[in-house]
Amino acid sequence: MQYHTHGFVPGDPDVSAAAPGHRRAGDPLPATIDVLIAGSGPAGLCLAAQLAREPLIRTMVVEPKLGPMEKGQADGISVRSMEMFQAFGFAEKVMRESMWINETTFWGAGQSTGLERVARVQDVPDGISEMPHVLLNQARVHDMFMDVMRNSPTKLEPDYGLKVVDLQVDPDASEYPVTVTLEHTDPVRLGQISTLRANYVVGCDGARSTVRKAIGGTLHGDAAHHAWGVMDLLATTDFPDWRMKSFVRSQDTGILMVLPREGGHLVRLYVELEALGEHERVADRGMGAQDIIAKAQRIFHPFTLDVKDVVWWSIYEIGHRLTDKFDDVPAGEVATRFPRVMLAGDACHTHSPKAGQGMNVSMGDTFNLGWKLVSVLTGRADASLLHTYSGERRAAAQSLVEFDHKWARVVGSTAPDTVTDGLPRVAREFVNNLPFTCGLTVQYEPGALTGTPESQHLATGFDIGKRFHSAPVVRLADARPMHLGHCIDADARFRVLLFAPASDQGTAQGPVAALCHWLETDPASPVRRHTAPGEDVDAVIDVRAVFQQGFRALDCTAMPALLRPKVGRLGLCDYEKVFCADLSPEKDIFTMRGIDRTQGCVVIVRPDQYVGHILPLDARNALAEYFAAILRVRA
Ligand code: FAD
Repeated sequence: MQYHTHGFVPGDPDVSAAAPGHRRAGDPLPATIDVLIAGSGPAGLCLAAQLAREPLIRTMVVEPKLGPMEKGQADGISVRSMEMFQAFGFAEKVMRESMWINETTFWGAGQSTGLERVARVQDVPDGISEMPHVLLNQARVHDMFMDVMRNSPTKLEPDYGLKVVDLQVDPDASEYPVTVTLEHTDPVRLGQISTLRANYVVGCDGARSTVRKAIGGTLHGDAAHHAWGVMDLLATTDFPDWRMKSFVRSQDTGILMVLPREGGHLVRLYVELEALGEHERVADRGMGAQDIIAKAQRIFHPFTLDVKDVVWWSIYEIGHRLTDKFDDVPAGEVATRFPRVMLAGDACHTHSPKAGQGMNVSMGDTFNLGWKLVSVLTGRADASLLHTYSGERRAAAQSLVEFDHKWARVVGSTAPDTVTDGLPRVAREFVNNLPFTCGLTVQYEPGALTGTPESQHLATGFDIGKRFHSAPVVRLADARPMHLGHCIDADARFRVLLFAPASDQGTAQGPVAALCHWLETDPASPVRRHTAPGEDVDAVIDVRAVFQQGFRALDCTAMPALLRPKVGRLGLCDYEKVFCADLSPEKDIFTMRGIDRTQGCVVIVRPDQYVGHILPLDARNALAEYFAAILRVRA
């Protein structure tokens, strides 16, 4: 973590000084706003936390509820989301507070009567990520994003007691073209209507999204016509795997899932309830908490379940649905209009909670959108960049909906469980699906933001289009062992990582120094072209290097100037741009990620931690072209 960059600041380094001119929640509504976010769920807050860090952007979050969530809804946090939390600075806090899921067990009908454990598998494959898979109340995830917002220069907080009821986009207006109608839901001003005009509106307003309806979007898909109950509870039991994630399938009473939760005592159960008729809604059955408990007790038999406290419950029907476009520009008008209204999270895709993806994919949507909005609103990129959001995230959501469909059928199947290679079908499918449920299979297609694979062979362990798979390094200046991916903050900057050939020690004759010199001084270099006058040299594109030698073999002061830039108001040296391989064999990033030791390479990492491109160290034109397709010339 870097601070004191602009002079010594006492106190908590996570808390930034307030930028002048920003309204506080509860202040009178403004007439205009840069970004209006509808909804303070995980999608809305993940976006708000990114925008809040940018003092030039005025953001509002409106939420019809009267205060923050306290319990319920989702709890699964994939390793991919944990990697993202690292960029916001609260992964360690989540790791401390949450329940870690390391092992999953499977229970089925025993030989004689009752239940027995039929399989157990490792929940997160070795080496897939440095982060764990954890469970934590969705409300706590909200709290962490809101801490980031409150601590940021804009001191952003949601405006509770306000909901979007309608919006209109004026395609001819260049400034604030979206007129939003808001209705107050707090008891004092209940039903009162206000309007404001926004440059952009992002509908993170859940499955019944008003924003989606206002732009003519509909969710397409189907429902499984089966009611499930979900309950967070405190209970005593003799079921042996009460602190393991477990799938329990009784002989003939049904299926449930046990999800041990944070704090050592809390447990969530997902319980299969009843089949529904073709046109029946789950509410029509009038089922309640006692039905969930009674069914769970029957499935657990002969084990006992003595419920001491029901913390939260809900009964739901599984639906797998997706909307056609995640913005307001019809496919036929992409060439002539830029998006002004975007959708994210449950507003544009819904799926069953069984694969634990709802919160993760929703945050993934707005982590993709956040840096694009920041880039456009700060003048770094043209508004056409926003077109990439719908294309990239709809494809990711489509594969989730397809996966979820398949997985819900496997979990809900009543067919006898076939055993292959010692594992019953559910356990087998579970293991096969782990990369997906870890959130690591999203791969963006080649396009403006994702390069083509000609140089993929230079770093076979960094897949172009997939998330940057971090690995250990040692920082040269202070010999600190760390993860390379942890130098990526949620700050809308690109990273250009230079992996040096074996012979290169960073000195003037080497390929890294030659590329750094060009990046820093040549008017054609992307660093020169896309950084505005007066900005630090790493304000838009942050160049860092990794060498193959151990940290004692290299001279920090001999590194190229671009890797020791003078930054901030005082022109202090940034010592944190150069890394060395960790020389213990199982931790050497060059071996772990298949980096060509003779040639080295350039890895471009997007602000959302996805690998944008891999290039040879001398591919200067290609490097410039990659950024020219995304960023404006600001030199
Ligand atoms: P949400 O979290 O739904 O947030 C949408 C927000 O928008 C809400 O705060 C809502 O009040 C607000 N809003 C609604 N209308 C408007 C409006 N007109 N204007 C402004 N704001 C508006 N997932 C699981 O994995 N496991 C579960 O057990 C589980 N249970 C769930 C139970 C319920 C009752 C619900 C609603 C969802 C549940 N989910 C569960 C799904 C999971 O919570 C979502 O996938 C995830 O929260 C999606 O995040 P989101 O931000 O897109 O939407």
